[in-house]
Amino acid sequence: MSEQLAKELQLEEENAAFPEVVAAAEGPFITGENIDTSSDLMLAQMLQMEFDREYDAQLRREERKINGDSKVSISFENYRKVHPYDSDSSEDEVDWQDTRHDPYRADKPTTTPRRGFIGKGKDITTKHDEVVCGRKNTARMENFAPEFQVGDGIGMDLKLSNQVFNALKQHAYSEERRSARLHEKKEHSTAEKAVDPKTRLLLYKMVNSGMLETITGCISTGKESVVFHAYGGNATEDKVIPPECAIKVFKTTLNEFKNRDKYIKDDYRFKDRFSKLNPRKIIRMWAEKEMHNLTRMQNAGIPCPQVVILKKHVLVMSFIGQDQVPAPKLKDVTLSSEDMKKAYYQILNMMQQLYKECNLVHADLSEYNMLWHDGKVWLIDVSQSVEPTHPHGLEFLFRDCRNVSQFFQKGGVTEALNERELFNAVSGLNITADNEVDFQAEIEALEKMNEDHVQNHGKKLSTFSSDGDPPIYDE
Ligand code: ADP
Ligand code: MG
Repeated sequence: MSEQLAKELQLEEENAAFPEVVAAAEGPFITGENIDTSSDLMLAQMLQMEFDREYDAQLRREERKINGDSKVSISFENYRKVHPYDSDSSEDEVDWQDTRHDPYRADKPTTTPRRGFIGKGKDITTKHDEVVCGRKNTARMENFAPEFQVGDGIGMDLKLSNQVFNALKQHAYSEERRSARLHEKKEHSTAEKAVDPKTRLLLYKMVNSGMLETITGCISTGKESVVFHAYGGNATEDKVIPPECAIKVFKTTLNEFKNRDKYIKDDYRFKDRFSKLNPRKIIRMWAEKEMHNLTRMQNAGIPCPQVVILKKHVLVMSFIGQDQVPAPKLKDVTLSSEDMKKAYYQILNMMQQLYKECNLVHADLSEYNMLWHDGKVWLIDVSQSVEPTHPHGLEFLFRDCRNVSQFFQKGGVTEALNERELFNAVSGLNITADNEVDFQAEIEALEKMNEDHVQNHGKKLSTFSSDGDPPIYDE
């Protein structure tokens, strides 16, 4: 647009808004320097706002169409167009607070002398200035967000001083930022609960297909996952759905998983795939790992949730508990000394089974990941479990043994083995070191031996055990 054309358009627009004043001020008052080109911006913003409103309305229509009268609804709220003002930079903010840089105010406030004008010839500034400014300011209130009610200032020929206008504008902006903040907060909290729109859609499909009856609520929010309770729906030809299900949603916020690399990276089952994957797929792999590990445990008869289905990063399994109340963690339940002893021997057996029959080390075994239900202990949370020949497998096992020993020794089970004895009992190894430091050194030496074997022979040792089967401990 040429400058000339721009000036003409500007003039036309001002003529329409302030017919008398502009006519009176024509001539010396309008100069190249005084022309206010902010109206182009205003027009653009209004058009953008119009566009955004139409877009949002379309979103709402689609939302209604998809949700219908379904039990689970999805929301496109996070896709709502951000209002142009929401993206205001902080720089802009400063501009508006700092009246020295108010573009609508002359750099140096001019006092109108008694004769009514200052300047000479074309650059004359009359006392009408204030009125013109006042009306312009009133018109500019149209710039404020649509939900900010300014009334019919133009109709009333309201003349807003710059000071009042700026204060109003400031208020309009802060109101809008407040609403943007509320919006942000909402977004944040949903992200925290791992149910971003894609996950919600997955859950929605599970209910819609009839596999789940209803998703009732959240049981647990952890760093890496969120667990929901659901009532199971109709059985299919090849699947019986448990009456109550737990849905573990692995969080798609990636940062928490960074420090879990070592579990999966060195797990040969996932080795070839790991390097080629993007972080999102790695998270799916955690879910997949949990599924495989649970299946192995199920096959060995270890009490654990039964896998129902895996969809991307969402794992549905049977619910340990009843009537929406999850079974308590071992750390939260007070057991009689008899039950405590029973639980101990059960865990000892489960650890041996896990090692020998499932070829797995839990790697996060503690009173936090064992539930007490139906008079026995159930193992959960096995996404990080690895095979014993994992480069750190034996270290993980030793850590598990330490947690279990300490818990039961503190819990008054006098028969509880110490962590080193427990380690040998589970692994069938016979590490003789009688202190922790030496014991750990031997464990690391064994791991190193395995790694060297891999280097030299291209494959891992099939097992560490030299003494045959681990001894069977029983009550
Ligand atoms: P995280 O990696 O967040 O620790 P968990 O698998 O341990 O994930 O699950 C978190 C919590 O959710 C558990 O402590 C338990 O209370 C509950 N939970 C998980 N799976 C089940 C299930 N199958 N049945 C009942 N409660 C469960
Ligand atoms: Mg856990």
